[in-house]
Amino acid sequence: MTGIGGQDGSYLAEQLLADGHEVFGTVLGSVDDYPTLDAVRDRIQVVDDAERALGDLEPDELYHLAAVSFVPAWWEDPVGLTSSETGMVVSLLEALRARSGTRAFFACSSEIFAAADEEPQSETTRPAPLSPYGAAKAFALHAVQAFRARYGLDASVGILFNHESPRRPEQFVTRKLTRAAAAISLGLEDHVDLGNLDARRDWGFAGDYTRAMQLMVRADEPGDYVVATGEARSVRDFAEAAFGAAGLDWRDHVRTDESLRRGETDARVLLGDATRASERLGWRPEITFDELVRLMVQSDVAALAAGSRL
Ligand code: GDP
Repeated sequence: MTGIGGQDGSYLAEQLLADGHEVFGTVLGSVDDYPTLDAVRDRIQVVDDAERALGDLEPDELYHLAAVSFVPAWWEDPVGLTSSETGMVVSLLEALRARSGTRAFFACSSEIFAAADEEPQSETTRPAPLSPYGAAKAFALHAVQAFRARYGLDASVGILFNHESPRRPEQFVTRKLTRAAAAISLGLEDHVDLGNLDARRDWGFAGDYTRAMQLMVRADEPGDYVVATGEARSVRDFAEAAFGAAGLDWRDHVRTDESLRRGETDARVLLGDATRASERLGWRPEITFDELVRLMVQSDVAALAAGSRL
């Protein structure tokens, strides 16, 4: 898999290893820089070049997960990020042409639906991105479809709605909130600054989404699938749940900061309809919203409590 050090890569690696697979992955920088890989570091093998590894290792499955998935980061370097994301997708598709024994999964994002004209969004919703990230992910979806049509590649696409976990980087609003709630409950901080509280997202658990990826790769036919819980909640709802899980009232600790708002490019609501994944793959999310929030807050409390005793 590409991007094994990320949130999804680390869950997917754990699941694949538990099922007895051999796992190879690419990372940006050194594998030692990724605490996400603590549980599997000794059992995975790092490769430098995914295209070359496809030929050398002849894997049964390829998962393309590597991406900069924090939307605002793309406005800082739209040219560099767009060319690396789109180039990587096409070079993996080209490499797959020579490897008929490899089934592939490509990660796409609900950001392709940022300005969608329907709700919930499904595989038939017209992509309407509002960011270079969304545009690049829409390109990835269409590129896989084009290569599948022309060469019959066994490549599937997961249109993944927001998915979170204790391993989500702190720049995302969920982890920012669970970490802040944990820190405030321990007396280490007293408030957190947020942007748009009205935005609504369909938040699921990353480990459930990596199971969906495997079901797609092993399905009889390749295809495109929305992966989502089917429930949208506002940032305000998430704040209430996170602070509630830490025994606090969010209204006492959340401030708003205009500079953190994304303006017209912020998707108002991303809500997925995963009926196809449910009917064709038998996929269903197992962790509920409340369980997810509790899991993340408890993990942050434990980590901060351990750190603060040092
Ligand atoms: P995204 O949906 O992939 O962009 O995931 P994020 O977690 O970065 O953002 C989710 C939503 O939370 C977006 O609508 C943001 O505008 C909103 N939001 C509000 N305040 C914040 C904040 O302080 N940080 C982040 N990352 N998002 C925020």
